[in-house]
Amino acid sequence: MVHFVGAGPGAPDLITLRGKEYLENADVIIYAGSLVNPRLLEYSRDVCTIYNSAKMTLEEAIGVMEKAEAEGKTTVRLHTGDPCIYGAIREQMDLLDEKGIAYDSCPGVSSFCGAAGALNLEYTLPDISQSVIITRMEGRTPVPELESIQSFAAHQATMVVFLSTGMLEELSRRLVEGGYSEDTPAAIVYKATWPDEKTFLCTVGTLAETARKNDITKTALMIIGDVVKDAKYNRSRLYDPGFSTEFRDASL
Ligand code: SAH
Repeated sequence: MVHFVGAGPGAPDLITLRGKEYLENADVIIYAGSLVNPRLLEYSRDVCTIYNSAKMTLEEAIGVMEKAEAEGKTTVRLHTGDPCIYGAIREQMDLLDEKGIAYDSCPGVSSFCGAAGALNLEYTLPDISQSVIITRMEGRTPVPELESIQSFAAHQATMVVFLSTGMLEELSRRLVEGGYSEDTPAAIVYKATWPDEKTFLCTVGTLAETARKNDITKTALMIIGDVVKDAKYNRSRLYDPGFSTEFRDASL
């Protein structure tokens, strides 16, 4: 059995109880060494064999799982954040399917949630934005043409940009081309929930300059939209005293 487990954004106590239990019982752990906090490995048993996937190809990782399976062992594949976001899990699952190896998936706290926590943000403020666009600039992995930053910017919804810290001039240019003003609030969150977490409030126009001045080149998220700062939102209807819900009668 292989468990794909979300490690959370960094802080070791932000893994789920289920994920921690899988780590505690694993015979083999393959963890994404570039981003998973190694302190999570302290939950593992002494007899557990640990591999760093940053140094392995897809085939090597699957080979480790296959060998473990043949020996009746349990493998945990530990991914940063939540495995469903840029986790490259589908390609692993497809190969496991071919080999008839069973697997399941245990969610984790994605870094975009860790980043909101770091800034005490609500991404979905009434009348400001009710949607969160999770996207990236293209790098070695291409982004489909219909998903350009410009086209997403046209919605003026909250946007969280992954994997793009080295391309901030271009990101700003595309955001502005798509319709955001240069002074739209933005934030850069570096290593959300890690001990060396850093947060910077800036604007669409100053993203690159902010990263440069503060030496931020990787492991960061860019958050764009009015929810980042001083938004004139309306209160939610759900907690409005004059509004009845299934659980509460209106008091006015
Ligand atoms: N599955 C992960 C994302 C993996 S892609 C998740 O759900 O968070 C790797 C990218 O995620 C990094 O380049 C960076 O943009 C972002 N990232 C991961 N951990 C982060 C953290 N603690 N703080 C800020 N960004 C992070």
